[in-house]
Amino acid sequence: MNETYIRHLQEIIRIPTVSTENDAATDWTQFDRLHAFLEKTYPLIHSRMERTVIGKASLLYRWKGTGKRLPVLLMAHQDVVPTGRLDQWTHDPFGGERDGGCIWGRGTNDCKSLLIAECEAVEEVLREGFEPDFDIYLSFGHNEEVQASDERKGSVLAGRYLAEQGVRIGCIFDEGGVVSRGADFGQAADTALVSLAEKSPNDFVLYKDGAGGHASRPGRHTVLGDVARAMAAVEAHPMPYRLTPLAEAQLKALAPLQDGERKAIYADPKGHWEALCALAEEDRNLDAILHTTFAVTKASGSPQTNVLPAHAECTMSVRILQGDTVESVKAYLESIMPDGVQVKVTFGEDPHPEGSVDSPEFRLLEQVIHEVYGASTAVVPMVMTGATDSRNYSAVCDNIFRFSGRIMTKDWGEAHQIDEKVPCDVIEPAVTFFKTFFRAYQADK
Ligand SMILES: [Zn+2]
Repeated sequence: MNETYIRHLQEIIRIPTVSTENDAATDWTQFDRLHAFLEKTYPLIHSRMERTVIGKASLLYRWKGTGKRLPVLLMAHQDVVPTGRLDQWTHDPFGGERDGGCIWGRGTNDCKSLLIAECEAVEEVLREGFEPDFDIYLSFGHNEEVQASDERKGSVLAGRYLAEQGVRIGCIFDEGGVVSRGADFGQAADTALVSLAEKSPNDFVLYKDGAGGHASRPGRHTVLGDVARAMAAVEAHPMPYRLTPLAEAQLKALAPLQDGERKAIYADPKGHWEALCALAEEDRNLDAILHTTFAVTKASGSPQTNVLPAHAECTMSVRILQGDTVESVKAYLESIMPDGVQVKVTFGEDPHPEGSVDSPEFRLLEQVIHEVYGASTAVVPMVMTGATDSRNYSAVCDNIFRFSGRIMTKDWGEAHQIDEKVPCDVIEPAVTFFKTFFRAYQADK
């Protein structure tokens, strides 16, 4: 086990870089500390690469190669989500404690272990005298975890900065997919999950205004009741299922790993469309890759029990699948709204195009995965239902691989949860993966 990697992970976990929706509430001195930590820990990156600070605290590093091939860009984010209730943690969330073969703390999984792995890989190839015939970029956002306007979002600004410089990127790696250890999850083979697209996260509000009044004479309906019927309509009328090219590739790649009826359905999803739809209605993971989803998460009405609401609303998290747009989804919702309930988009973003499995870059990635993790590792291209910073680079890159090279075992604590943790040896395979990919990507080997 590489003790240096472990120590570096512990050190970065001790820097509480919690992002907030409101810049004024963020403790920027923690981001300064994180930048100082990187400078001290990775001297070659800081002497040999050009560093640009983007927005409030995002970092973009460039190592200039000979330019024979398009650049490779590695991403991770510096920020973490808040801890939640401290008394529920069994270890200090910002202590970087080592216990039971794991490093514990907020950001261990999401995604400081990836940030460390990327820095170690680049620092090592610099030390080894590697001469890339392509540029290598590192890009670390500062507010991945929060909704922010384009003017404040680090990844949007970094993507724009590259576009303005006329830079095209050959391929990008970011958080998202991992190598899932089959034995830990009851599967015959290890699976490398490579996300080639993500659904776009949107906030929609359903609302109705009324006159308010005394709650002793409500009549038959209140505007809150009308909004409740709108919520029921949304749940009763989900958007129809459809199969994007990537979802089809994902199911086909998963087919050999399935048992029973799923094996045949996944192997030929179009030929078993009815059966696939029936499965999806019972399986929320499958459901999420086959259509745009609506989750009603918040609702409000009158501030006081004896006052009729003059305004009622509910908020929905809407995850738009490739093929739909903010406008088309809004029109769909308007077509099913009862009782004059209105639809408003409070955070709108169209989905970015999905990547293709038919690119030379994807084939190279498959080859490197087999070299690093073993020939029996199944490579599964997938649609990610969560969001990452990498989508904001789609104007400069066609091959965005949400794949971190880390091996996920049953010891991983889930991202954003209490007692987030990763196994101590999580970083080493990712470092090996990135270094192997750099050498494989080289035009002149
Ligand atoms: Zn993350």
